[in-house]
Amino acid sequence: MKLYEYQTKELFQQVGIPTPKGKVIGSASDLESAKVDLPLPRVIKSQVRKGGRGKAGLIQFASTEEETKEAVHHLFRHPEKISKLLLEERLDIKKEMFLSITIDPKTSSPLIMACAEGGMEIEEIANLFPGMIVQERVDIFRGLGNFQARDVMCRLGLQGQQITHGAQILVQLYRLFRSFDAELLEINPLVMTREGTLVAADAKMNIDDNALFRQKRFVKSRDQFDDDLEFEAFQEGLHYIRFDGDIGVMSAGAGLTMTIMDLIKHFGGHPANFLEFGGAAYGRAAKAMDIALKNPKVKVILITTFGLIARADVIAQGIAQAIKELKPKIPIVAAVRGTGEEEAFKILEDVGIESMRDTEEAVKKAVVIAAGRAP
Ligand code: GDP
Ligand code: MN
Repeated sequence: MKLYEYQTKELFQQVGIPTPKGKVIGSASDLESAKVDLPLPRVIKSQVRKGGRGKAGLIQFASTEEETKEAVHHLFRHPEKISKLLLEERLDIKKEMFLSITIDPKTSSPLIMACAEGGMEIEEIANLFPGMIVQERVDIFRGLGNFQARDVMCRLGLQGQQITHGAQILVQLYRLFRSFDAELLEINPLVMTREGTLVAADAKMNIDDNALFRQKRFVKSRDQFDDDLEFEAFQEGLHYIRFDGDIGVMSAGAGLTMTIMDLIKHFGGHPANFLEFGGAAYGRAAKAMDIALKNPKVKVILITTFGLIARADVIAQGIAQAIKELKPKIPIVAAVRGTGEEEAFKILEDVGIESMRDTEEAVKKAVVIAAGRAP
């Protein structure tokens, strides 16, 4: 789950990471009613979950009240896309740095990455001059030592009090990273002001979705999704991702679903979605089909399962229920395999579906149907 900049900055304020003075508004009229008493000049920052706002024109600068108003109206002109703005005092920047913590998949440990040259060109810098990126691995059981944090700041070229200050920021950042089960926590730019203080001008945090059950402070709402169907599936406990093809995929188990998507591509077809109803959701075939059918591009539904603990006959009951309720008008190709499959075949036959015994053949058949050739 991606937090908004203003949410992450609220966490920063709670642990003493310095942020610019700011105020969140939800509409242009808030500008008057919420009494935005920030010093001028200001920065007006769109609260969207995507990076690269600066380059996309979603960050504006204003040196007067009039310009503030203009920028606010301009950025709110599509309120369905941008529903909140963060107004901040504009910092007097001497230098923009980059500071982040993520998980290193190779060592499965937190990894600090920092760079003395941060800001909007960080990707280019990392590509052209990888040696400029300072890296520090953290032993997850020991945590981040103050000496390590100071070392990172020294390697960034900071001096004197700034090392102490930068290390305090990093230690607090790591604390947040762990206590909120973050996958990514990033300050870009970490600004050094003309007066020489360090301030987090931007803030980005992704929380591991698998930890949301214990991160009750944050709830995934519609604005965390790009798509109505993806949100609907999430609420039903199903994993759905929309693609632009025409084969509606329904599979039990993420691994099998990925394999089926690969097979579809291999045989020249195009999946319309990723949709997985395995694991705890294996009784949810009816809801899964309901969602798969809602995409108007879908020409054929391909159901594949390989049930061991998630029994094939239970899955088949869900599919049979779905067929009775939804009466799909497009062809259904199924290979419902696994524990209890003989029973599953019978259940499906009763609703007019002949389950195939070879998963690859089922994929081929779906590809042929979607392409409009006779199966
Ligand atoms: P992003 O492009 O989505 O990462 O948005 P940022 O919050 O990082 O803003 C993009 C750029 O705007 C930064 O790299 C800065 O150059 C500039 N910027 C952001 N906040 C301030 C500020 O308070 N003062 C000044 N002078 N520039 C800012
Ligand atoms: Mn940024």
